Parts: sequence; structure tokens; C-alpha cells
Amino acid sequence: MSLTGKTALITGASRGIGHAILLGLAEMGATVVGTATSDKGTKLITDALAAKGYTGGAVVMDVRDDNSVAAALAAVEEGYGAPAIVVNNAGVTADNLFLRMKMEEWQSVLDANLTALYRVTKPCLRAMLKAHWGRIINISSVVGVSGNPGQANYCASKAGVIGFSKSLAQEVASRNITVNVVAPGFIGTDMTNVLSEEQQIQLKKSIPMQRIGTPEEIAAAVCFLASPGASYITGETIQVNGGMYMQ
Ligand code: NAP
Repeated sequence: MSLTGKTALITGASRGIGHAILLGLAEMGATVVGTATSDKGTKLITDALAAKGYTGGAVVMDVRDDNSVAAALAAVEEGYGAPAIVVNNAGVTADNLFLRMKMEEWQSVLDANLTALYRVTKPCLRAMLKAHWGRIINISSVVGVSGNPGQANYCASKAGVIGFSKSLAQEVASRNITVNVVAPGFIGTDMTNVLSEEQQIQLKKSIPMQRIGTPEEIAAAVCFLASPGASYITGETIQVNGGMYMQ
């Protein structure tokens, strides 16, 4: 299961699911580089890595900004080598009923959750093609498949992540690069802590396992997809949702 000698880039690793993925891949021996939007966020990453004695670091990256992504990727390559594993995890919500949804709410979510995959993945792909090895793992959501009222922008972006991944998987499979998706259900992070207690109770009722998932349970699926054991899996979406939605 070792990823020793591989550099893994994880976007949005300062907290939540991305942070658990960062630590999971580091535990498997990868050199991990996490991104955050601020110096405060990068410090959270470097402190966590130092506390566990893991190899890696952190860079500031705003996945909505071409220049920020380019500068961050250059710093990663210079400091740690080209990433062989890329986890596109950074994501945002801006919920509203569609009739009330402003164009800015639509654009900002599509930009951070979907267009960011173009910005981050494309430059990283060249080194993977050359190395004839790569793992691209994109974080979607259960609602990218089921839909959810009040989240037309978010659901569109997360469904787009799945379509993008299936297409790219077919383009690069012959070069031993896999492209897969993990679609979390309802996971306990800052993103879901904003829901009211009443909303959380209702949500739990819709989950056969009757509980919220943990970031580590999502990280476990990502770590599997990055591992040698998943070498023949590509274009797949793993739903990790406690049975909330079954395809
Ligand atoms: P979170 O706790 O809100 O953390 C979001 C992460 O994304 C943070 O590290 C944040 O960095 C980063 N980020 C936000 N905007 C960014 C931008 N413009 N550029 C770069 N990084 C940015 O979220 P989470 O719950 O862990 O979610 C992680 C992923 O899982 C997302 O793609 C989300 O859509 C997906 N997901 C989550 C759930 C859930 O129930 N939590 C369910 C399904 C899917 P800063 O700390 O610097 O702000």
C-alpha cells in the first residue's frame, strides 16, 4: 500500500475532508502538499504534518484564480517535485432556491468546484503522462447524482466533476493514469456545521446508518484509490454516504 516516493497534491487541505486526506496519504508514505487560501491555513497544514513527523508542506492557492494556481503549482514542483497524485478537494457552497439564485452565486460555485479542475489538473497531467503513472481523485458529492433543492449550482458543479472524470479517465487510461471520484454524503465539517440543528436531524433521518460521516471515512476511500490496490479502477465514482443514496 506504500506511496513512498510519490508527491501528492491536495487542494483545500487546511480543514475538513481535505485535511483528513492529507494525513491519510502522508500515513501511506507520500510526500503531501496541501493547499489553503491563506497563510493561517497553510500553517494549520504544516503544523499538523510536523506534529506527526510526516513529509511535505503547504502552499497558498485560490482555485478560482489562474495566477494563484500557476504560482502554487510552480512552488510545489520546485519544492517537492511534480505531483503524481492530485486530489481536487477544495469546494464551496452558496445555497439558494434557483429562482432567487444570483448569477454570482452560480458562477462562484461553478468556478471553485468545477472550473478549478481544469486549472489544477491540466498542468499536473503533463508530468504524469511522461512518467506513465498518475492518480487523479476528484471530490464530488452525493447530491451531484441525486440533486438537492436549494443547491442547483452546487449539484451542477458536482455532477460536472463526475462527467469530467469519466471523460479524462478514457483519455489517459493507456498511460497508466487513473481518474476517479469520491462522492461523500453528509460529513461533519465546517461546510455542514452551518446547517441548523433541525436540518441536521432531518438529514440524519434520511441516512440508513443514522449518523453523519467523518472526514476520515472519506479519506479512506481516497487513499484506496491512490493505492496500488486500485490500479485497475478508473472512471469510477465511489459513494461514501452511509446508504443515503444508492445508485
Ligand atoms: P470545508 O470544511 O468547508 O473546507 C473547504 C476547504 O476548501 C478548505 O480547506 C478551504 O480552504 C478550501 N477552499 C475553499 N475555497 C477555496 C478556494 N477558492 N480556493 C482554494 N481552496 C478553497 O469543506 P469540506 O466539507 O471538507 O468539503 C471538502 C470537499 O468535499 C468539497 O469539495 C465539498 O464540496 C465536498 N463535500 C463535502 C460534504 C460534506 O458533507 N462536508 C459532502 C459532499 C461533498 P481555507 O481553509 O483556506 O478556506
